[in-house]
Amino acid sequence: MFFTAVLLSLLLPACNLFQHAQVEKPEQAAIETEYRQLDTLSIVAERPDKKAEKETYSLPPYNPSATRENDLLHTSLDLSFDWEKQAVLGTARLKVKPYFYPVDQLKLDAKGFEIKSVTLLPEGKSLSYEYEGRKLIIQLDKTYTRDQTYEVEIDYVAYPRAEGGSSAINSDQGLYFINPSGELGKPRQIWSQGETESNSRWFPTIDKPNERQTQDIRLTVEDHFVTLSNGVLVSSTPAGNGLRTDHWVMDLPHAPYLTMIAVGDWAVVKDKKWNGKEVSYYVEPEYKEDAAYIFPYTSEMLSFFSDILDVPYPWQKYTQIVVRDFVSGAMENTTAVTFMEMVQAHREDLVDRRMNELITAHEMFHHWFGDLVTTESWANITLNEGFANYSEYLWLEYKHGRDEAEAHRQSELRGYLSSGNWHPLIYYGYRDREDVFDAHSYNKGGLILHMLRTYLGDDAFFTALHNYLTQNAYTDVEAHELRLVFEDVSGQDLNWFFNQWFFSAGHPVLQVRKQYHPERGEVELLVEQTQEPTEEIPAIFRLPFYVDVYMPDGSKQRKHFEMNQRKQRFVVKTEAEPALVVFDAEHSLLAVVDYPKTEAEYAFQYRHGPTYFDRQEALEAFSTEESSLADDIFTQALDDPYWGFRQMAVQKCPATEANIQRIAQLAVDDPHSGVRVEALARLGDTEDKAWLKVARMVAEKDSAASVRGAALELVSQLAPEEALKTAEKLEDTKSKQLILSVARIFAQSENPVYLDFFESKFGFMNNTEGIEFVHLYADLALAAGPESVQRAANQLEKVALRPDYMVWYRFGAMSALNALHEGLAKAMKDAGQGESTSLVELDEQIKAAIQRVKKAETDKRLKMMYQKFPST
Ligand SMILES: [Zn+2]
Repeated sequence: MFFTAVLLSLLLPACNLFQHAQVEKPEQAAIETEYRQLDTLSIVAERPDKKAEKETYSLPPYNPSATRENDLLHTSLDLSFDWEKQAVLGTARLKVKPYFYPVDQLKLDAKGFEIKSVTLLPEGKSLSYEYEGRKLIIQLDKTYTRDQTYEVEIDYVAYPRAEGGSSAINSDQGLYFINPSGELGKPRQIWSQGETESNSRWFPTIDKPNERQTQDIRLTVEDHFVTLSNGVLVSSTPAGNGLRTDHWVMDLPHAPYLTMIAVGDWAVVKDKKWNGKEVSYYVEPEYKEDAAYIFPYTSEMLSFFSDILDVPYPWQKYTQIVVRDFVSGAMENTTAVTFMEMVQAHREDLVDRRMNELITAHEMFHHWFGDLVTTESWANITLNEGFANYSEYLWLEYKHGRDEAEAHRQSELRGYLSSGNWHPLIYYGYRDREDVFDAHSYNKGGLILHMLRTYLGDDAFFTALHNYLTQNAYTDVEAHELRLVFEDVSGQDLNWFFNQWFFSAGHPVLQVRKQYHPERGEVELLVEQTQEPTEEIPAIFRLPFYVDVYMPDGSKQRKHFEMNQRKQRFVVKTEAEPALVVFDAEHSLLAVVDYPKTEAEYAFQYRHGPTYFDRQEALEAFSTEESSLADDIFTQALDDPYWGFRQMAVQKCPATEANIQRIAQLAVDDPHSGVRVEALARLGDTEDKAWLKVARMVAEKDSAASVRGAALELVSQLAPEEALKTAEKLEDTKSKQLILSVARIFAQSENPVYLDFFESKFGFMNNTEGIEFVHLYADLALAAGPESVQRAANQLEKVALRPDYMVWYRFGAMSALNALHEGLAKAMKDAGQGESTSLVELDEQIKAAIQRVKKAETDKRLKMMYQKFPST
């Protein structure tokens, strides 16, 4: 699972990219705050109340793996759908055997069902049962022992309804009917979302991750729909009355939460087969030509992960599908991965968009870690999510180089550190199982795997992963099973590592100070662990690390140390005073490190340090400095091998003639579109019309719409009339990025004639780009005067209330409405005492519109975020 809070934080840099725009946009900053708030929303798990436990002498909360009484072997489903009642008409045949001890009962999860009959097959004998709305307890005809198999048939109607959910998976409805009446301007779809225990809202099962079953599903649907499920489509037959039955067979066992179905009007795009297996994409028909870019490098990833694990992709096919209104980011249903609509875009808008690559990799890696080898309980979910998270690193490292992977690791580290609420990674003490989908299970899990890889070396690390997968294939696991393979392969005891990283909370906070002793010919590092220990956070972490000591000529020696005290000295012999001493030279420790250096040391570190972190730390230190050394470093960084640093250098380097020439070159031919966009913005700062030629050329030719848009914005700065004319001609483009650039240009014109353009694009911009778009619309209205503000308020209210628009777009419209209110409030304040009654009235109307949107909104995430509107 890839949840939306993660995605929105990924989108942040994309939003920042637009910050280069010539005029500062306070609204844009407001949008970012919203994103961050979303991020914190995802981390709400509460620490169990220790004090209360002590006072009542009760055991702390403990969520074990589910007890296995029966073993579900095979599930066979016949399903049809009542769109009007949003109900599933089902027949389920379950093949079951006792797990170990004899049984005379079968307990199934079946939430919100109407049970028609329960019979024993093959005789069809009625069985008695109890059903209270959540658990179906079937009394068997006799006691069965573990060498006996039995089969029951359940006729039912299921009414999937949400009872809860989390910020990671915002609903537990299990099965969703999108636009069931067909009245809204969006596709009609049915799709499922099982994790954590929601599939039992549409078929009876043992809804626990330590269960696994094979399955076959017959879906009877209107003939114009296509369907998708796990495994292989074995037949598709007419069922009368314009209906058709598709029969999907999954003959390899997997956990019930990984079962999926989807029904709708997708374009099915088949890629070349991978090792004889189908690779396909289900997208909305408009995106048919772009499918392979929406799910980039799918086949190459299948090969890469198969090779690096030395375990070939184990399932029958690989299909990825985009659905409307998905309740998370993406979900790793075996062979049929579901994605939210945010990933869907045209090719020219997908250039260098890493988000799609990262989610594609994440969900695919789950097919080994999660689907083939599955966590036995939600407490151990990092055995699924930590690996999926780390696959993003592995893919970036392979495809785009170590620097880009390290940049991603740093943002994962920051995400974890800003999350707070330290709990053990293996988290038996959670209050709600949905709370384990947090920055611990994902970010910290991935970071710990990286530390383990650095400690043991690639050979041992990947050999152990291979053994773990092959020894535990088609079974469920807990963290100790992972420890044991690493111990077996490396010959080392690793209890200390697992105890402190998997079973304890927190992380080391280190203070590092360096001192050179010429008389002894030694450089000394004094390292202190300053984390506040608690019952769960260790006072002392055992920390293996490297120290690199650099001499002024650039030569270096590396020493390995291990810290095992609260405060400890580490000494390296050296013949002269070092130019630089780097602590944790592989930068792999999951720790907060405070180690101040001089400007000269940072400059040396930028020039000689081989890693991303060496250079990043130095550039960050210089980014707040104004000195000739800082100028030199940022000039040098224009040629850094990592695009992110070149982008930073474009912003920060001094405006010398040579630098501006270099930047003009980067605007044309830097391999990364993000650098080209930044370079065009920087050329705009020069206000030199000489760059018009470059801008016009890039606006015509660049492969990335974002770059063409930035070039047009540069034209707009240097020759506004020309840009307006060109922008008007672009109104029909299919690129949302380009429309966004056009919108920026129109917004700056302050001419209300362009309000029409915005209004005609509201439907088209129904995606994340739409958030900035509606704010630009509000900007234009505010600049154009009260009449335009009134008009914009009416329009934005309508956008915010459209149930067929994406939730984040609706949120954008609401926050733009609030921006109108803020703009008016400011205008009135600026006008002073004699404020006009008409402005007061207009503001009252806008506040009333805000209240109406608040009242009408049903999405609970939006409801929560809307609490702060109107903002004053
Ligand atoms: Zn995941």
